[in-house]
Amino acid sequence: MVYEKEYVKPSPFYEVYDEKKKIIRCTVCERRCVLAPGLTGICWNHKNIGGKLYNIAYGLLSAVEPRPIEIKPLFHYYPNSIALTFSGWGCNFRCPWCQNYHISWSKPDPDKSIYMEPRKLVELAKKLKNHGLCASFNEPTIHLEYLLDVGEYAVKQGLYLTMVTNGYMTLKTIKYLLRHGYTGFSIDIKGCPYTYKKYLSANPLIIYRNTKTILDHGGHAEMVYLVVPKANDWRECYEWIIDNHLKYLGENVPLHINRYYPANKYYEPPTNISKLVEIKREAEKAGIDYVYIGNTPYEEYEYTRCPRCGKVLIVRRNYRVIKWNLTKDHRCPRCGYKINIYGEYIHK
Ligand code: SF4
Repeated sequence: MVYEKEYVKPSPFYEVYDEKKKIIRCTVCERRCVLAPGLTGICWNHKNIGGKLYNIAYGLLSAVEPRPIEIKPLFHYYPNSIALTFSGWGCNFRCPWCQNYHISWSKPDPDKSIYMEPRKLVELAKKLKNHGLCASFNEPTIHLEYLLDVGEYAVKQGLYLTMVTNGYMTLKTIKYLLRHGYTGFSIDIKGCPYTYKKYLSANPLIIYRNTKTILDHGGHAEMVYLVVPKANDWRECYEWIIDNHLKYLGENVPLHINRYYPANKYYEPPTNISKLVEIKREAEKAGIDYVYIGNTPYEEYEYTRCPRCGKVLIVRRNYRVIKWNLTKDHRCPRCGYKINIYGEYIHK
C-alpha cells in the first residue's frame, strides 16, 4: 500500500470539492489544485488518495548542506550565520529560466533522495553547530507538512527557521509557518503582471499580500528580483515592482536585484550589469533603503550603506561578513540611523 510508506503522510490542508466523487481541493498554495482520486497536483508533492490529501514526498530530500545565510540571500537576518539548508523535489511554478531546474523540474523519487525524519535533520543542524535551518533550492511550500514538523523540533533546540520561496502560498499556510517558528523569508518577485501571466499563470499581488502578512506578524522578509532579459527587465516592469514594494512592504525591506544566467529552457545572454545598476538607482531614488546587486563579481554592490548618511556599515565577501560597523543596537555609528537587522550578528 503506497500510503504505508514512510514518505507518504496524510495532510490536513485540503477542502472537499465534490463529496460524491471524492474530489478535493488542496489549500497549501494558491494554485489550489482540484484533484480527483489518483491525481497529483502541479507540484508533484500532493496527491488525492481515496478522497483525502497526502503529501507523497515527506522527508524525501534532494540535498542537505550547511550554507551561509548571505547566500539565500538574507543580508539583514542573523548576519554571518550558517543555516543547514535542505530541499525536496518539484515546484508549483515552472519558470523557463529556473536556476535550480535539476531539482525543481524533477518529480520526487525515493531512489534518488535522502530520507530524513524532521528530528534527525534538526539533530544534524545541532551537531554541525549551525545556527538555524533553511528550506531552499526548490519551492519549500510544497512540502509544508515536513516544514511544520521540522519547525516544532528546531524551535525547541533554539535554532532559527528560514525559507527561500516564490511566496505563492495561501494565507493559512503562511500563518502555520509563522506559528511553527519560521521567521526569515527570502521571497522571489518574478516580475510584473505581464511576467506572471505569460510564464506562470499567476498573480504577483499574492506575493505582496503574503510578504506583508509576514511583516505584520513580526517576521523578516527580503525580496529577490532576478532580472531576466525580455521577461521582466524593461522600465514599466521594474517600476511596477518598485512601486508595489514601497506600497505593500515599505522602504525598510531589502531588495536584491540579481543577475540571471542562461539555464533550463531560457537562452538569452546574462543580464547586462548596466541594466542592474539602472534598476538599483531607480529603486534607491524611489526610496527603498537597502538595494543590492547580486550574482556579479562586484562585491561593493553587496555592501550595506547607511540610508541616511551613506556610511559603509557592513562589508561582505563570498557570502561572509568581513566588516561589521554597527552599534550594539544596530544603528549607524555616525548618524544614529536604525538599521533593519533581525536577530544578532554572528561574529564567527
Ligand atoms: S501544494 Fe501542490 S497540489 Fe497543493 S495547491 Fe500547490 S501545487 Fe497544487
